[in-house]
Amino acid sequence: MKLSRFAQLLKPSETLAVSTKAKTLRAQGQDIIDFGLGEPDFNTPDNIIRAAEHAMAEGFTKYTPPPGLPELRRAVAEKFKRENNLDYTPDEIIISCGAKHVLYNLSRLLVEAGDEVIIPGPCWVTYPAQVEMAGGTPVIIPTTAEDDFKMTGEALRRYLTPKTKGIILNSPCNPTGTVYTPDELEDLARVLMDTELFVITDEIYEHLVYDGVKQISIATLDPELKARCIVVNGFSKTYAMTGWRLGYCAGPAELIEMYGRLQSQSTSNATSFAQVAGIEALNGPQDSVQMMVQEYERRRNFVVQRLNAMTGVSCNMPKGAFYVFPKIDTLFGRAAQGGQLQTSMDVTAYLLEAAGVAVVPGEAFCDDRYIRISYATSMEALEAGLDRMEHAIQQLT
Ligand code: PLP
Repeated sequence: MKLSRFAQLLKPSETLAVSTKAKTLRAQGQDIIDFGLGEPDFNTPDNIIRAAEHAMAEGFTKYTPPPGLPELRRAVAEKFKRENNLDYTPDEIIISCGAKHVLYNLSRLLVEAGDEVIIPGPCWVTYPAQVEMAGGTPVIIPTTAEDDFKMTGEALRRYLTPKTKGIILNSPCNPTGTVYTPDELEDLARVLMDTELFVITDEIYEHLVYDGVKQISIATLDPELKARCIVVNGFSKTYAMTGWRLGYCAGPAELIEMYGRLQSQSTSNATSFAQVAGIEALNGPQDSVQMMVQEYERRRNFVVQRLNAMTGVSCNMPKGAFYVFPKIDTLFGRAAQGGQLQTSMDVTAYLLEAAGVAVVPGEAFCDDRYIRISYATSMEALEAGLDRMEHAIQQLT
């Protein structure tokens, strides 16, 4: 069968690949500790589950309007006002099957062949992959642990070309956990104000912030900039709802109208009773979110302290999300059973084989000097996995 050119552009998700390998080894009876997946280990809060159960029992199992239930679009508009100080009307909001789906639809609506899209790196694998799927060219602006993985306005300006069509921001960031301060966002906004770029701002980790930090949206900084911003968010991380597949974005009504057309000819609506659960998530009690955030913060402190005590590993203290992104390139050149470690993929393979610990190579996030560890797993698993990692690193010669 001759597949389309589009099919040939498709790349597997490297984060999912590691997790799949870890699951296969586990199925073969090996004791694997998985630090690979970006998925809360908590169950979805009970009030949200009950709302979906109730909706199903009431026969709420039919199609909804393709852009989403009007009640949910309204609840999202209220959430933007309440939590982000952003004014959107419900027709500037659309509901999709997860934030990943939102981002995919946006790439189809905003990017075409020849366009460059700026992405500060290290970045989530999916951004460059989706830009490429739309025929565009991702332009990664590198940042380092020393700059706390933050892109400056000055760096952004240097990378602008006549082909630059847009930028994708992600704060708090997957994989680094970096959260931009208001001043740093102002610095970027000043440069963006001199352009006509679209600004996708993925704020899915907005509530997972620590040390008293508050995430703010770049869309709040200026009305003219807001008109070019698309604020992406979802339920997966804040409400531990990864499997429900529910996400949304807010942007200019004209774009959202086209987005509705795309969705009506592709997936139609997100799952009806998941949308009802989404209303409960936003409008119901938020104490389970607070509990989860406190627990993530406790784990983050533990993991960073343990990693920095390992020879050859150094790790920043991230302010958000549930990942740490330790630098491991000083391990390159050291010898393991299978040969010399030369890449983040080699380090990952070594940790899986020698320690039974699954992590994700930095290469998957456009920087080979690091690995990503997710601490969205129990404290017991973190303790055991980090012990094993430390031991395996000590065995390197
Ligand atoms: N954005 C970022 C930065 C993510 O890390 C993820 C999931 O890993 C998503 C979006 C997608 O979330 P969803 O489950 O809503 O598709």
